[in-house]
Amino acid sequence: MISISEALKIIKRETRPLLPETIDLVNSIGRVLAQEIRADMDLPPFDRSQMDGFAVKTSDVKNAPVRLKIVGESIAGRGFDGKLNSGEAVRIMTGAPVPEGADAVQKVELTEEKDGFIKIAERTQVRQNINVFASEVEKGEQIFESEEIITENMIAAIASFGYAKVEVFKRPKAAILSTGSEIVDICAIPLKDQIRNSNSIMLKVFADRFADAEVLPSVKDDIKCLQNAIEKAAKNFDVLITTGGVSIGDYDLTKPVLRRLGAQIFFEKVSLKPGKPTVFAKLNNCLIFGLPGNPVSSAVTFYLFVRTALLKMQSAKSCELKPSFAVVSEKIKAAQERDSFLPASLATDKKGKLIIESLRFNGSSNFIAFARADALVFVPQGKNLESGDVAEILFLQ
Ligand code: AMP
Ligand code: MG
Repeated sequence: MISISEALKIIKRETRPLLPETIDLVNSIGRVLAQEIRADMDLPPFDRSQMDGFAVKTSDVKNAPVRLKIVGESIAGRGFDGKLNSGEAVRIMTGAPVPEGADAVQKVELTEEKDGFIKIAERTQVRQNINVFASEVEKGEQIFESEEIITENMIAAIASFGYAKVEVFKRPKAAILSTGSEIVDICAIPLKDQIRNSNSIMLKVFADRFADAEVLPSVKDDIKCLQNAIEKAAKNFDVLITTGGVSIGDYDLTKPVLRRLGAQIFFEKVSLKPGKPTVFAKLNNCLIFGLPGNPVSSAVTFYLFVRTALLKMQSAKSCELKPSFAVVSEKIKAAQERDSFLPASLATDKKGKLIIESLRFNGSSNFIAFARADALVFVPQGKNLESGDVAEILFLQ
């Protein structure tokens, strides 16, 4: 039995990086940048008004109220063409360029217009209501690094610098294979002894965020069928995720089949609850994750191990779930012989402290509880967490 960190080390070691490709920015959410993003221009590209009002010289309005002659206007997309002289003002709109010679904008609410003149009610400070040229970003500045994961909130920033297309790392092709003679399709009405295959669709949804995932037809606990399915998948995919059949029962055939096929098995037992019988192997350059069949075990081991591999293959800078800390509100019992990563829901108390609101785990088959989990709580082997303890958590995202 190996530790979780050792398992992760092996997974990262055995994971080969994929090549870059160029895609449309609009399709890039969740992809990993294979290039850096640099500013191709200064932002703002000119001194820009933050208000509707009048562009003035601060020196002209220091004894406000004063009257200035309106000599023109500056609107977004078409600035004022001349230079502002003393005693003059230019009508200006939000987003429009501040005319040469002006050093402040007085907002329209503090002005009164009459007969081609504007009365400015209050003095201004230099740069008042002006977004100064290049104050946000300077041309050439690095905005994002290579190997960052593109999120929705990054899109506007990337687009602003003209990247309609971006270079990202290719996504792995992943296959999902559920095993078990009791498994039936989710649209079937299970007979006695049968259960619906919830793992395949769950893993498809999880994996699609980081890979192009395909669900293969599930297979019964039959050594020939399983062997065919694994052998074929290993030829056509970068990653194969199987569920079920990794325990030590007579019909747990995943490991025997991997051995028969000559797969290289790196580990087959991890000090982890839930998820101890997780297998990691390689066949024809295809990484194979044999996850336990219990839905919560499949989910947790996907988040800890498979997700890491899928992101590592894309050279992502951070491949693991985001770690943090939260205060335990109710005792959480440790497993005596393994570390645990238990699903839990989080909340923030009135003092702004992040707390573990409740454990969403009562056995690895209870996916109803898991449905409300937003983190995994680390419980070290043999060490109960007591109310008030600070626990390490990983955000499920
Ligand atoms: P196994 O790992 O094959 O021993 O399966 C452990 C438990 O998980 C059994 O109760 C199975 O019925 C259940 N299980 C296995 N595969 C699936 C699946 N694809 N969807 C839902 N539950 C499953
Ligand atoms: Mg089974």
